[in-house]
Amino acid sequence: MMLALIAAALAGAQGQVVRLEVPHEPGLHEASVVWNGRERPLVRQGQHWMTLLGVDLDTEPGSHEARLQLSFEDGRNASRVESVQVSPVNYPTTELTVAPRYVELSPEDQERANRESREIAEIYSTITPEAHWSEPFTVPIPGTTGGRNFGHRRMFNGQPRAPHSGADLRAATGTPIRAANRGRVVLAKDLFFSGNAVFVDHGLGVYTVYLHLSEIGVRPGELVERGQVLGLAGATGRVTGPHLHWGARIVDARVDPFSLLGPDDGGEAP
Ligand SMILES: [Zn+2]
Repeated sequence: MMLALIAAALAGAQGQVVRLEVPHEPGLHEASVVWNGRERPLVRQGQHWMTLLGVDLDTEPGSHEARLQLSFEDGRNASRVESVQVSPVNYPTTELTVAPRYVELSPEDQERANRESREIAEIYSTITPEAHWSEPFTVPIPGTTGGRNFGHRRMFNGQPRAPHSGADLRAATGTPIRAANRGRVVLAKDLFFSGNAVFVDHGLGVYTVYLHLSEIGVRPGELVERGQVLGLAGATGRVTGPHLHWGARIVDARVDPFSLLGPDDGGEAP
């Protein structure tokens, strides 16, 4: 029997999440996919196996390979290459003014920022082999507006810096910030650029982050439910004012967190 994907060709724009889904068939007991050089598992949900792939915002437009590997109880293996068509997105440039210490870093701050950046890279390189979530992802501040500035190229005090890897949601200091989905807290502390930060591992390499909080209400290792309060919005770290920076990462891919959302929040339920 021929194995077929639900979608004949997968499409994904720069900075978007792509849902990879394979129908279950008798005897299929393990499935994984190699995407962007890293193997990640698919998990069974009813009659399908699924995982989420991230198309980093700087991925070259064009056709990219996802190598699917299936193994069966009788020892049979099957492998197939799927193509993901990546389309370009023209992200605008924004200019921001922040406290000078966040642009011209002191040697101590530079050392701290480098150390934290290595710690964060280590977190993102971990692929938890199960999905902690089963419901659609949701916005961390229900009913909020704005937050469509993912991917913007940025100038801080006139100097070019990394593109914006999340979405900024309007929020007064003290606004409750809720987990976008079920997952495990893997970081909850003050970071140089991010201020008070909470990172949640949803499994399968999918992470969401909540930055610049005035207060953190969870601890590392804690399993949080979708909608559970993680902390309160604030203006800590490199900011121009109070807001929530909401970010999403799938292994090494920076993706727009809004592309994770379910249909109730205007997304397409990846
Ligand atoms: Zn931001």
